[in-house]
Amino acid sequence: MILGRRASGYPGKGLAGRPGRNRRVRVDRELCSGCGDCLAACVYGIIRMDSRGRVSIGRSCRGCGRCADACPEGALTVHGR
Ligand code: SF4
Ligand code: SF4
Repeated sequence: MILGRRASGYPGKGLAGRPGRNRRVRVDRELCSGCGDCLAACVYGIIRMDSRGRVSIGRSCRGCGRCADACPEGALTVHGR
């Protein structure tokens, strides 16, 4: 289940920033421009970018949605519950 791309679009105001054990973000590499904004947004420091600009989300993602809020391309979506 996709919860949303941005905090304002989530069911329940203020869900972003509230970590969930069963929540995780996914990246759509077709949309990603490789800007790197999500790396700075993740307070847990678990987003990585390889030398080709490919973003990967670490397994310890809490699905807080901060990176999705920061992504200018809408490439990050929060899944789970
Ligand atoms: S949703 Fe994004 S900002 Fe939040 S923990 Fe996962 S990768 Fe980090
Ligand atoms: S913020 Fe969005 S467009 Fe920028 S690197 Fe991260 S996923 Fe890609």
